[in-house]
This record gives sequence, structure tokens and C-alpha cells, in this order.
Amino acid sequence: MSRTADVELRNVSKVFDNSVVAVDNVSLEIEQGEFFSLLGPSGCGKTTTLRMIAGFEMPTSGEISIEGRPMGETPPFRRNVNTVFQNYALFPHMTVAENVAFGLRMKRIPRDEIARRVREALQLVRLGGFEDRYPRQLSGGQQQRVALARALINRPRVLLLDEPLGALDLKLRKEMQLELKHLQMTVGITFIYVTHDQEEALTMSDRIAVMNAGRVLQVGTPLEIYERPSSRFVADFIGESNFLDGRVVDLNGQRATVVVDDRVPVPARAQDGLAIGEQVTVAIRPEKIRLRSLGTEGADGCVRGRVEEIVYIGTDTYYLVRLTDRCTVRVRVQNSQNRLDSSETIGHGEEVLLSWLPETAMVLK
Ligand code: ATP
Repeated sequence: MSRTADVELRNVSKVFDNSVVAVDNVSLEIEQGEFFSLLGPSGCGKTTTLRMIAGFEMPTSGEISIEGRPMGETPPFRRNVNTVFQNYALFPHMTVAENVAFGLRMKRIPRDEIARRVREALQLVRLGGFEDRYPRQLSGGQQQRVALARALINRPRVLLLDEPLGALDLKLRKEMQLELKHLQMTVGITFIYVTHDQEEALTMSDRIAVMNAGRVLQVGTPLEIYERPSSRFVADFIGESNFLDGRVVDLNGQRATVVVDDRVPVPARAQDGLAIGEQVTVAIRPEKIRLRSLGTEGADGCVRGRVEEIVYIGTDTYYLVRLTDRCTVRVRVQNSQNRLDSSETIGHGEEVLLSWLPETAMVLK
């Protein structure tokens, strides 16, 4: 059974002051109950996209539908959405319970029902017992949870979150990421989440839209985006990647061979529409590359190089390996053994063989 789109953007653009194109012809379908992230660098149009869904900004062109209904000029309070901002925006003179109840009070809902729903909402964000505290008596993470409870108490169809964890320190942010994901699965509400943090998006999302310069470059699950980036920008922005420029010299079913610097043939995953002789870039992630000493027998598809730099970072070790005068690659090797005890270390200046499965190397045009 296919799920229905909760939020749909069709060819949506936003131009500020007749000149700044903040969002450029974006089309998206966000499904009911999905955790959907808008991911991209600062200024790429994520917040503007979110504000248009919320109704704080109107598109210059295109259309936004929520639950199948075109929103047109519908104001924010008539849309079945709520927004959580980075700075929480709690009322400092109100207790936690009063902050959370605020939206329901405005709707003149009976007192006992408000009390019950406040209790439920606070339990959901694990803040039962904090009803009478004031925001200043809470940690950053707790304040953010109050903001969440306040947004959830109206039972919106869609929750919009604009970098809600941005103000928290790294450790707390990681904890809150898991909590948020758990919360979203519990309440089953569609979450649309804005972040510039790729790890955050990968951790929490069902699907991610990667944006740059107002456009959506790729939409997919975290796995699809990471393993099959469709452009150099996406491969570079999410995780790390080596980029090897070269020319296609052979195509054989799923496999392409690209010659780098007219000298080094490298294997890669063929994609539709590739032609022999075409100039392309091969993107290969450092952790997909296997590194061996030269003495070991070189199988088909191995690339030879010399180690120029070694950087130990605890869990892994990075090797910078020179392939040609103009081309180096970074290799990331997991330190599964204790490196102090290991006799099989590869040293500076050593000649090595690099290999990878062709399907892990993307050919980008
Ligand atoms: P960040 O992660 O820094 O918040 P973002 O991806 O959310 O960035 P937006 O805030 O959507 O980006 O901004 C996109 C572009 O639109 C930027 O160039 C920004 O300067 C511009 N912009 C946003 N709001 C306005 C406005 N009200 N008036 C004019 N330009 C604006």
C-alpha cells in the first residue's frame, strides 16, 4: 500500500527583494509519518523552505499542499503544522506546565483536559515531575524538550523543526538525536527537520533532501545518499570522498574503467549513459579502499601508490597515498587490532596496493 503525501511542494521558488533566489524550483513529496530532513550548507534555502511550509513566508511561485489541500495564502495558525525553533522561545515568566499549556489555553479548552494533555506531553518528552519549574531552572536539553512538548500538545499533523539541537553541546545533541527519533516513531507525526549537520541527518532521517544554492540535488534514504551520491557536491558534503578525474576507457556491464592522468586505470560502477572517451570523476570513499603492502600479490584492478602521510585518529588511521604526480587518495583503515601490538603496520614512503569493489566507486559526470 502506498502512503499518502502529507506535504507536497510543486515547483516552489522564493525570491526575496526581486533578486535573491533563496529557493529555486523545489519539488518534494513528504509522506505521512516520515522523518524527513532538509540538509545543506548555510544559506542554501532550508529555513526558507520550512517557513513556506509553515506559512510564515509565501512562495513567489509554485504550490504547497498539506494533507492534499493547496495552502495558497493560508496563514500559519490555520495550517495543521507546528514549528520548533533552535532558540526554544519559551516564556521565562511561565512554569513548564504553563508554557506547554499555552497553545491549548488560547483555544479555550477545558481546564481538566488541558491538565491531562500537559501531563501526557511532558511524559512523552520524559519531563514528568518538572511541571512547576521555570525555564531558567532547566538545562538546555530540558528546555528543548519543553519546546517539543509545547509543539506536540496541539497534535499537529506535521512538526517542523529548524535546527532544534543547534544550541546544545555535542554529547547532549547526540543523546537528543536518538530521543527525537524515538519520539517521532512513538507519536507517528510527520517531522520535517532542517539541519546543516550531515551526521545528524543520517542518524535520524527516513529520507533526506540534500540542498545547495536553493535547489534540491538529491532525495533518498541515508543509505542511498551515502552509497550512491549523484553529484560531486553530495559525495563531498555527506561523509568524505576522494575525487579522481579521468577518462572512460572501458565499459563492461556494471563495470567501468577510468584512466586517471592518462596512466592509472581505476575500476568503478558504470551508470547509464556513459560513453567511452568521456571525461568523468570517480568518487570513492576513504573507508571503501583496501590497503596492502606491495609484496602481496596484486590482483586485477589494484592500483599502486606510495604512502606520503599517516594520521592516527584512535578508531582509524588515515593514509595519504600518491598515485601520480598530480593525484593522491586518502584511505581510512579501521584499527581493529591494537596498533601498538600489531607487526603489520604500513610505514611512511612504503609502496602499497590499493583495491576496492568497483560498485563502491561512483562515476560522476
Ligand atoms: P542557515 O543554515 O544559515 O539558516 P538556510 O539554508 O536555512 O541557512 P535560508 O535562511 O533559507 O538558508 O536563506 C537562503 C537565502 O535567502 C540566503 O541567501 C539568505 O540570505 C536569503 N534570505 C533569507 N531570508 C531572507 C529575507 N527575509 N530577505 C532577503 N533575503 C533572505
